[in-house]
This record gives sequence, C-alpha cells and structure tokens, in this order.
Amino acid sequence: MRILLDFDWTLFNTEQYKKEMGLENISCVEHSNRCLKILKEHGKAGMFLFPDTVDFLKNHSQHRLILVTFGDKKYQKAKVQQSGILNLFSESIFTGTEMKGDIIKRIFKHAEEKIIFLDDDFAQLQNMKKQCPHIVGIRMRRKEMKYGSDIKQTEFPEVSNLNEFAQLLASF
Ligand SMILES: [Mg+2]
Repeated sequence: MRILLDFDWTLFNTEQYKKEMGLENISCVEHSNRCLKILKEHGKAGMFLFPDTVDFLKNHSQHRLILVTFGDKKYQKAKVQQSGILNLFSESIFTGTEMKGDIIKRIFKHAEEKIIFLDDDFAQLQNMKKQCPHIVGIRMRRKEMKYGSDIKQTEFPEVSNLNEFAQLLASF
C-alpha cells in the first residue's frame, strides 16, 4: 500500500508553530523568505510534530510512505528536514504551488497498488479525487486545531488523529 501524507496540520502542529514564531497572520507561501529565516533562527521545528507522528511513521514502515506537501519548496523542505522525519518517508514530493492531485496524477499514472491520501485540506482532497479517482482520500481533522477555514463535509471519511487513521488503514 502507498500512503500519501500531508505535513502541515496533519503531522505537524502548524497552528502552534506559527503562533510561537509570530507568524500567525503571515502566509508562508507568499512570504517564504521571511518564514525560512525564522525557521533557521529558531532551529527546533521537531518540537511541533504532533505526539503521534513519529510512532505512526515508524509503525507503518512496511508501506510506502510518501510525504506530499504544498507551499514554497525551499521552505517546506527545510521545515520537514528540521522536524527530523524526512528519512522516515520512502519518498517526498514538494508540490510548490501546484495542487497535489495535479502532480500525483503524473507520477502515479499506472500504480497498481492501493493508494491512500491523508490531508486536512478539503480542497486538496477534492482535487486529488478529481485527478486520481482511484486514490482513497481521508481527511485529518485534529480536535485541538482551530483551522482557518474549516469546512463541514461528508465526502471523505474523517479521522482526528493518527491512531484513528491507523485503525482505518487496517480495514483496507
Ligand atoms: Mg495540511
């Protein structure tokens, strides 16, 4: 099985991170240099991983774990690297400002394995479904997060942490 995993708000507590870095109202897609500078100065992004992230990745290493993250490539790469989990993925895809489904469609055109996609972003899940209807989308909606634009939906199953996600995976 291939498992596509989003980073921000799914594996990483971006809300708390941005708050503590004074980046609450700053878009790091638009102001990536400023965000990169702060990231490098602070140097402890690993503190902001959700408590279930590392265990989940280690316990599912028998699958192909693929990180798929949206946003400025340089900044995202530095952030994931600094968080210390980059080496727990078999592959990592930095999409820049392209929607995830658009890119995954080109990469996994003829994938025969089952592919699962976990993301908190409803728009990304919808784009993935449109471009890659064979990929099973699951939405992460962590209870402790406020989320800027939380959308109520029933199109994708929802989980509120990685243990719930693991239980759901076991049923596939
Ligand atoms: Mg996200």
